[in-house]
Amino acid sequence: MAEINNPFESNQAFKRAVNRGMVLDALRDGPASRLRLHKRTGIRLTTVGDLVEEMLAAKLLVETGSAPRGEGERGRPEQLLELNLSEPYALGVYVDKERLRTGRVNLAGKMTASREAVVENAENGTQLVAQIAREVKAVLSEGSPPLEHCLGLGLSLPGILNAENGSVLLSSAFPGLEKGPPLAQRVAQATGIARVTLGNVANSHLTAERLYGAIRGMRDAVLVILEPGQIGAAILSDGRPIRGMFESSAELGHFKIEADGPPCACGGNGCLETFIAWKYLRRQLIDKGRGDLAELGPVAFWTSEKPACAELRAEAIRRMGRAIGSLVNLTRPAAVVLSGSLAVHEKTMCEPLRAAIRRETLKPFGERLEMPAGALGLSAGIVGGASLVLQSVFTIPEVAAV
Ligand SMILES: [Zn+2]
Repeated sequence: MAEINNPFESNQAFKRAVNRGMVLDALRDGPASRLRLHKRTGIRLTTVGDLVEEMLAAKLLVETGSAPRGEGERGRPEQLLELNLSEPYALGVYVDKERLRTGRVNLAGKMTASREAVVENAENGTQLVAQIAREVKAVLSEGSPPLEHCLGLGLSLPGILNAENGSVLLSSAFPGLEKGPPLAQRVAQATGIARVTLGNVANSHLTAERLYGAIRGMRDAVLVILEPGQIGAAILSDGRPIRGMFESSAELGHFKIEADGPPCACGGNGCLETFIAWKYLRRQLIDKGRGDLAELGPVAFWTSEKPACAELRAEAIRRMGRAIGSLVNLTRPAAVVLSGSLAVHEKTMCEPLRAAIRRETLKPFGERLEMPAGALGLSAGIVGGASLVLQSVFTIPEVAAV
């Protein structure tokens, strides 16, 4: 028989966390009275009452007036409760080699302030932490509720991370962050926010799309991040993200597409990322006698309507479809969410990619597979970071059998 791995101090603490998660989750569908919450969740009315008092005191909920009376209901009218969308908030930070996005996100997953800056020096860890702290302070000064309502700061970045101590183990974008004290600790010190959570960018997007977006409530899904020259994935399996040994994403970019392909930065050959890198695509354009298009740059290439670009893009998308299709055959998700800055381009990216994935997927999976574009679009970076914090508010804990 499987043993039970219970991370809570006692069964009572576990039950309370489950009940609390269920009540908060039920309120995400709209305001409800204590009685309605009892009916929606099946939790005893007195327990609902206790939990609600606790959450009112913590300012996670607010009372918003009387509920309309149902037929035959007598006595004092029930008070309606809803999530407090004006006070508690999480800070979300997304950083890649070029951009630093910082914002404030409420319990409904709505961004209530945001900023974007060009990364000043990705190589230097100290300068990067200082820039993050400046951006966070600027967001806090833009009409934020007092710091006591800040639930924490979630920092989303590419790389392999140690989620337990908040350090960066390997990041080609930020080699300077691999040394020195853990990044989470450095950001906490520099910003004055005690609770800092680190997450890999694909896992952060997956968390956000599951909490607020295209796969809310789903238990099996794959999220693919599409950026110019980069591709990554995160996998949700039976309601849990697959973390593997570290906080990292599925390394889809290093899926071996061709044994004798171009050399990759990882030391291997023929990785998917080498075929979608601008360096490779640019070379192809020059070899095809279209040196004029080589000046387009990695962003414009993916949306250009020039036939030479469309042809080369079709080849790249076919390779992406092969890698993602294999991932679908391996993990059998109900949905593949297309996220990242290229996923906002329905005609040049999402449509042909869906067809390419379906071609490479075993029929019974492919026929039922949903492939929505991420609902959070370009705000997924900031909301993803914030979701690393917000998920702890809404998650209904499950006990894992080991
Ligand atoms: Zn590689």
